Amino acid sequence: MNLAHLLARTARVLPEQPAVALGTRELYSYGELFRRAAKIAGGLRGLMGLQTGDRVALFMTNCPQYLELLYGIWHAGLVAVPINHKLHAREVAFIVDDSAAALLFVADDPGEDERIWREKNSDLRVVPVDAATYRRLTSADPIAIVPRTPDDLAWLFYTSGTTGQPKGVMLSQRNLLAMTLAYFPDVDQVTPSDSILYAAPMSHGAGMYNFAHVLVGARHVIPESGGFDAHEIVLLSQRFRQVSLFAAPTMVRRLVDQVSERSADCSGIKTIVYGGGPMYLEDIRRSLDVLGDRLVQIYGQGESPMTITALSRQHLANRAHPRHRERIASVGVAHSVVEVVVADADDQLLPTGAIGEVLVRGETVMQGYWRNPQATATTLRNGWLHTGDIGSLDADGFLTLKDRSKDVIISGGTNIYPREVEEVLLRHAAVAEVSVVGRPSAEWGEEVVAFVVCQAGVSVPIAELDRLCLDSIARFKRPKDYIFVSALPKNHYGKVLKTALRRHWTQYGEN
Ligand code: AMP
Repeated sequence: MNLAHLLARTARVLPEQPAVALGTRELYSYGELFRRAAKIAGGLRGLMGLQTGDRVALFMTNCPQYLELLYGIWHAGLVAVPINHKLHAREVAFIVDDSAAALLFVADDPGEDERIWREKNSDLRVVPVDAATYRRLTSADPIAIVPRTPDDLAWLFYTSGTTGQPKGVMLSQRNLLAMTLAYFPDVDQVTPSDSILYAAPMSHGAGMYNFAHVLVGARHVIPESGGFDAHEIVLLSQRFRQVSLFAAPTMVRRLVDQVSERSADCSGIKTIVYGGGPMYLEDIRRSLDVLGDRLVQIYGQGESPMTITALSRQHLANRAHPRHRERIASVGVAHSVVEVVVADADDQLLPTGAIGEVLVRGETVMQGYWRNPQATATTLRNGWLHTGDIGSLDADGFLTLKDRSKDVIISGGTNIYPREVEEVLLRHAAVAEVSVVGRPSAEWGEEVVAFVVCQAGVSVPIAELDRLCLDSIARFKRPKDYIFVSALPKNHYGKVLKTALRRHWTQYGEN
């Protein structure tokens, strides 16, 4: 099996079906997309001399070339290494060196960065997609799909590395096919009249949703901005109708603002799949109110991509359910292709309601970390993927996440889950963002500290935040200290870097 067959099949069955659009401009049909991928595959092997299993990295904003390159790479029996386009040249250098990539496709002339990328990987060839070399590739002689087995590596996915160096998650052909097939029962139905819009980086989860849409023959729309612009998304959804997109919680919030404050018409949006980080209860409620029943949540991680649990449109929409509040605050139920349990430190399964680490096993779980047996052995133990996320399952199988295990605060011997405190503080109208972490304390081991970002132009008295906590959660969970900052440190995926907050106490002045 080779993922390239998904495209080949649709190109045969629906050759005239529109496949790729840049903004509102239709570019290629499925027949054309397949032919381009087959030529690129021929070029990668013939002109570039690449061999089965070689790694090819992509460092580009979302662009039409992304899809044809991914499929060209798989068609040729090679491994794709998509890299987040926001990474620094040194971070890119780490990935191209670690993966020993033979080739790096980039959006435009790399200038000085090329020297940095090639410092440790002098064999690396860099190809801008607007260069003559790329045009030669796309006009090479097409080849037949190179056969691959289900366990062959397809996508080397570099983790966001919120703690230390990124690791290459090895995703096989089978992993990605299982993830794709789970989309239909667990996330959404897709028809050939649908479009998927890439508002989040194609190097990450949004790009992985290409498969389900290729399989059915839906259109792939690349925004001209190459990324997330709420206004552009609304316009494109009005043009194409039945548009689905994957969005991180911050993007959903911006879309909600666009619709509620500018009365934008979101009737062209079919589904917004959100996930990748916690979405707070107040935000979910507001999103449901403003966007209607268009939301589906997924919880996944690179190590089991996009597929640990899902909270369906029906569950989110069923406001009459007696446990609706708990359910929309959960991440839903296990995806159909995996088992999800909560276990203690010895991997013993815990009863309903008990809090422990979330473990996963099944077809989507990675094969391990690339050339890193030690990290693999720590994460894949006793047949389970250890997610590092802490949560509990209810009697109906809904999983509620508490926090990452490394973020749990242990104060006076009791576990405090930062997210619970954050949820409370965010209810204050003047609080824009908040992150709660543990600070070493001689008396308690750790004590709770909240980093708070206020809404523009407003401040908030500490007494009000204290009162909010005292009214809602146990006294010992209340922050001992509030530190007001203008912004929270985040990585390139928008995730708050709690490690940075913990490391740099003194860097942030209290005001
Ligand atoms: P990454 O591998 O970079 O995609 O990060 C995966 C991590 O993001 C997970 O282990 C969770 O901690 C977090 N995450 C992903 N999806 C969700 C979600 N729906 N709700 C809360 N946290 C999430």
